[in-house]
Amino acid sequence: MAVSTVNISPTALNQPLAQPSDLPALDKVLHSQALAGALEQYGLSLVTQQLRLLLAKLRHQALQQTLSINEVAVAAIAKQLLSQLQQLTASKLKTVINLTGTVLHTNLGRALLPESTVAAISQVLREPTNLEFDLVSGKRGDRDSLIEDLICELTGAEAATVVNNNAAAVLLMLNALANHKQVIVSRGELVEIGGSFRIPDIMSSAGSTLVEVGTTNRTHYADYERAIGEHTAMLMKVHCSNYAVVGFTKETPLTELVALGEHYQLPVTVDLGSGTLVDLSQWGLPHEPTVKETLAAGADLVTFSGDKLLGGPQAGFIVGRKALIEAIKKHPLKRALRVGKLTMAALESVLALYRSPELLPQRLTTLHLLTRSAPDIQAQAQTLQPDLQHYLGEQYRVHCQAMFSQIGSGAMPIESLPSFGLVIEYVGKKSSQIMQLERQFRSQTPPLIGRIHKDALYLDCRCLTPTQADLLQATWSQTSL
Ligand SMILES: *Cc1c(COP(=O)(O)O)cnc(C)c1O
Repeated sequence: MAVSTVNISPTALNQPLAQPSDLPALDKVLHSQALAGALEQYGLSLVTQQLRLLLAKLRHQALQQTLSINEVAVAAIAKQLLSQLQQLTASKLKTVINLTGTVLHTNLGRALLPESTVAAISQVLREPTNLEFDLVSGKRGDRDSLIEDLICELTGAEAATVVNNNAAAVLLMLNALANHKQVIVSRGELVEIGGSFRIPDIMSSAGSTLVEVGTTNRTHYADYERAIGEHTAMLMKVHCSNYAVVGFTKETPLTELVALGEHYQLPVTVDLGSGTLVDLSQWGLPHEPTVKETLAAGADLVTFSGDKLLGGPQAGFIVGRKALIEAIKKHPLKRALRVGKLTMAALESVLALYRSPELLPQRLTTLHLLTRSAPDIQAQAQTLQPDLQHYLGEQYRVHCQAMFSQIGSGAMPIESLPSFGLVIEYVGKKSSQIMQLERQFRSQTPPLIGRIHKDALYLDCRCLTPTQADLLQATWSQTSL
């Protein structure tokens, strides 16, 4: 509680003050009718503990002469306790309404999973599974084997392993194959991903020495070749997922690097980052190198995320040559970075959808959101516009407007998707009003997250689910700010 404010509650102004001796005994409140339901819901010990804290706070207020006599009534204390218990037990991880226009928003949990995947996860939570049990031999099994055939089928890889996320995949690959050794990377590919994943830092954490070659905009075959020495363990390419080097540039093609690797007997690895399993251009989206293409071009190992364009749960894949994958699987870090059964169930379910690629836009939530047409989004925004205008009142102007969504998670950073949404402007002069409105939307239940641009609040409707739209419509048409 703020100490700087004048410590008199509004009620205390025209009510007699309470003395500490006016406070009821703990037992009297605890066994009052008003708390019967709370005792059942939260249990005696939690309710008692919270009541003790509340009574101590009220006693302190009484001593400060800031407590009115009606605030010490048993019913008033019980009411305050109930809201205190509700606040305490409310989940910290909340679902939100993502109107930021960024589909794979890292801070909002990236890919949303299809209903079929949600069902697959809940199934394995309720009953034991063969996570690491070979049902044929009756012996201990390998959890990777649950999805390895499928991922190999979809990418053309010889073998595959899965860990907690792509950062873990890169760390494990480097530590297993290049500990105390050198890894050659182009200066133009020393990526930093938001949330402190930096190629140089991950290299040193893995015990590998980064050997930078070329310049920021141009790296040639000869630059790589000159850097190869007796301590070199790997040639690595990193996909520039969240930036683009344009203008006078030269990137050594993967096929050339593969030839160099073959000549010197060095593995060539590629961190694809977002790595998708299908060619997205068939749905009018920009082309992103697929895992299959990268392996076909000769990469020995490829690493990529499970919850970016792939549209699955948080996970990281390492796929490629069998001998290298075997070495990685035996490494102790693999055990530390392995995924649990929830992730396995989700991955198996999402990967299975890729067997019918033409049905993906309907079935895979991420692709559905990325391929939603502007007219479809426009219709949704237009339906909501009068309700939002009603809710906000005449102080604000609400327009339905064309805008651009982002793919997000560093995938295709300079591409944007035509979308539609609502733009809110404040009619008066006070520019802080829009910021206050943004905060207000963010603190409601469920929180609504938009984005401020040039003194206006933008609500991109691309990621608005039909259920969320119904909820907003009901709220906005029936209440006002
Ligand atoms: C996103 C990304 C990573 C990190 O992947 P996470 O799954 O977030 O750990 C690593 N490398 C590249 C190139 C990326 O784009």
